[in-house]
Amino acid sequence: MSRDGQAVTWGTVMAAILDTPPIREAIPDTMRAAVLFGPGDIRQINRPVPRPGPGEVLVKVAMCGTCGTDLKIYDGHFPLTPPYGAFTPGHEWTGTVVALGETVDEVAVGDRVCIEAHHGCGRCDNCLIGRYTACLHYGNATKGHRATGMTTDGGFAEYVLHHVSALYKMPPQVSFKDAVLLTTAGTGLYGLDAAGGYIVGYDIAIFGPGPVGLMTVQACKELGAGRIFLVGTRTSRLEMGQRFGADHIINVRECNPVAAIQELTGGAGVDVAIECSGAVDTPQQCVQVTKRGGKILVVAFYPQPVTLDLSAVVRGDITIYTTRGEGGNNVKRAVSLAAQGRLRGAELVTHEFPLEAIAEAFRVMRERVGDPIKIVIIP
Ligand SMILES: [Zn+2]
Ligand SMILES: [Zn+2]
Repeated sequence: MSRDGQAVTWGTVMAAILDTPPIREAIPDTMRAAVLFGPGDIRQINRPVPRPGPGEVLVKVAMCGTCGTDLKIYDGHFPLTPPYGAFTPGHEWTGTVVALGETVDEVAVGDRVCIEAHHGCGRCDNCLIGRYTACLHYGNATKGHRATGMTTDGGFAEYVLHHVSALYKMPPQVSFKDAVLLTTAGTGLYGLDAAGGYIVGYDIAIFGPGPVGLMTVQACKELGAGRIFLVGTRTSRLEMGQRFGADHIINVRECNPVAAIQELTGGAGVDVAIECSGAVDTPQQCVQVTKRGGKILVVAFYPQPVTLDLSAVVRGDITIYTTRGEGGNNVKRAVSLAAQGRLRGAELVTHEFPLEAIAEAFRVMRERVGDPIKIVIIP
């Protein structure tokens, strides 16, 4: 066939593709959604299904994870949440794309996606240098900022809107249960990224074998860490960390973690201590186990101000890094690791609740009934 012939054929095919309307699932006018009506008062009601604006995508939620931040939101101790009676929380959701707003062609209807919670405004000083989780318009939806389930409606609902920049397409081998944990894995990966990233051969201490800690154990292992010391209070979680690649597990109910890590490192300490626990006494333990010239990475929130020996940090030439959430495109890296079978999330999902039982799910999480690790809500 001639060059011209090929061009015509290709053009015809493209025209046919562009003319084919995407298969659209009928989207109802209303949906079931959990709405926060006051501190400790969350109920399932019917709400209008939102319609995607320019750059936005409507996703049918497959499941939404819960975490400690949801309890703070539930109790009314979280800044910048929308008013009571008009706010659906949930920031660790995954699902299937059902409608696209104007200009969106990065994902298609039918794609399975997971998320970053944050979409920066794209116009402030921090967004311009890629630090969108530190957006200077945080919480200001009129400027385009969105933190799903925190400052805008989230995934404890049948449908949720998100900006396309914070969605990540998943290959078929990544399950929705894995995907809920990929947002969490992005938190650890972003922290490591901010703290220098290159951890091959480093000894690492991870405090707090919750979901962030357990995903970070796997990330450190895959990034070639030397020895990983995992510190916590609950045996079941520590043992899971061991299955995920922790070389030594240290139960603080049985021994002093500082003495244990000092002994295991011959008195030198670790290259990087990662604080994922949110317990007020662990930052000081991080100071005591980090070697001279080492790094401390803090990715947790605390219920009250924390005390630590800052002079020891300075004397030891230790650098402290903090990061919030899962920026730097690190959820995309998490999806890649999961697609390669090198990041396991589904094993952390211990409990599932239907949307109407969300208050019960929060009770189970708070009271640790049945030792939950990750509780998911299925709308
Ligand atoms: Zn969370
Ligand atoms: Zn911004």
